[in-house]
Amino acid sequence: MGVSILAIIYIIAAVTFIMGLKMMSNPASARKGNMIAGVGMVAAILGTIFLYRNPDGGLLQNHIWIFAAIAVGTLIGVMAAKKVKMTAMPEMVSLFNGLGGASATLISVIEFNHLADMGFPVDASSAGTLGIIFAGVILGNITFSGSIVAWGKLSGKFKDFAFKGQHIINLLLLGASIALAVFIISDLQADTTTMLFYVVFMLSLVYGIFFVLPIGGADMPVVISLLNSLSGLSAACGGFLYDNKVVFTGGILVGAAGTILTVLMCKAMNRSLVNVLIGSFGGGGKSTSTGEQGQHKEISLNDAAVVMSYANKVLIVPGYGLAVAQAQHACHELEKLLEAKGVQVKYAIHPVAGRMPGHMNVLLAEADVSYDKLLEMEQANEEFPTTDVVLILGANDVVNPAAKTDPGSPIYGMPILDVELAKNVIVNKRSMKPGYAGIENGLFFRPKTSMLFGDAKKALQDLCGEIKSL
Ligand code: NDP
Repeated sequence: MGVSILAIIYIIAAVTFIMGLKMMSNPASARKGNMIAGVGMVAAILGTIFLYRNPDGGLLQNHIWIFAAIAVGTLIGVMAAKKVKMTAMPEMVSLFNGLGGASATLISVIEFNHLADMGFPVDASSAGTLGIIFAGVILGNITFSGSIVAWGKLSGKFKDFAFKGQHIINLLLLGASIALAVFIISDLQADTTTMLFYVVFMLSLVYGIFFVLPIGGADMPVVISLLNSLSGLSAACGGFLYDNKVVFTGGILVGAAGTILTVLMCKAMNRSLVNVLIGSFGGGGKSTSTGEQGQHKEISLNDAAVVMSYANKVLIVPGYGLAVAQAQHACHELEKLLEAKGVQVKYAIHPVAGRMPGHMNVLLAEADVSYDKLLEMEQANEEFPTTDVVLILGANDVVNPAAKTDPGSPIYGMPILDVELAKNVIVNKRSMKPGYAGIENGLFFRPKTSMLFGDAKKALQDLCGEIKSL
């Protein structure tokens, strides 16, 4: 009876995951989607704790340990989520992602030890189980060590690190872990298998570090979405091992969604997935543009207000700086003021603007900016030639023309927002400092460009004041 109720709970939970994921694709329903999937997850966890039966028919014991662990984990998770600044969100997501990978690895290690205790019975089913155990260890370890390095790089704690021939070493590390796993499964020798298992363990851990360390320039988004996908796949291995449909479904959903995102990010960055896997893009490039590129010119608040108020069409390009300044509400206010003056206002969203996929969409949704005002990069590039003013708010790399013109640049090949096709470009940032990729931006020195220096929130509030007084 309990078992069939549990099966029903699992089905309901799987449905909530799918519904939640679907709802998360739209900012308006994302919060509700997250809640629904969360309720499904809690039901699945409680159902497992109280209704799951061991192969010998007994219920789970150790309730005190289980609930103590849940309480500690929940407390840390809630506190971390409450404390985290919006701009540090990508780092936290990376860290949590890594912990997902580590959990998958631990499950595999435990199940490997079970098999070892039984003396590695050599039959088809134990070979299959071992295959999944190895998949769990390799995927879980890559996710864990790769995500920790990604966390360090996003928070500025680790620098890019690359050496000559690193991509060959990376290929060898990945190839060796897979080949060794296949060898062990096909030729089980009880006395060496355990040692070789931990060699695979170490190789995959080191590969995770080596493949993320050199990724630099502006290419981190691809790696982050790939690690996200791997965390799902490693969790799915746990579902396979325990024949637990809900863990399997959840893992596959994360894996599939992450894979789609990775492909989209690769497309957005004009990179190939193979290059991501061997860690051979970004970072190492030497830009041919050197130092100062001439004089930049500044624009006063009053002039910026006049130019925008008398424009027919204004396109706003949000970037990481908008999130740092928490200027999304002031930005929405500016949009409403300009529209009241008959100006058409839209937003040009670059797929890797900010520090996590969809960062700008989430930020603007928080300020109730209407979703249909957001243009994707291709749509925006079609609209720039008919745009009077582009207002760039804390964006840098995603509008850097070096991506098109400088083959030595670490961002070379990445599609950018062609803001220069518009009549005027106003750039708001605090200084002439570079963005995430650490390279100078020639756009700031072009004749059409004027700099409006200052913190984005303050600048936007002042701009709104000027427009009101016109
Ligand atoms: P950038 O990081 O290139 O530039 C942001 C700019 O914002 C900086 O030049 C900074 O200049 C300015 N800024 C910072 N704080 C403020 C503030 N308070 N007010 C006004 N301006 C401010 O951002 P982009 O969005 O253009 O590009 C994102 C970059 O991050 C890309 O290289 C992308 O690949 C990378 N990335 C993206 C991820 C994703 O998933 N989206 C994940 C990881 C990396 P100043 O200091 O002078 O003010």
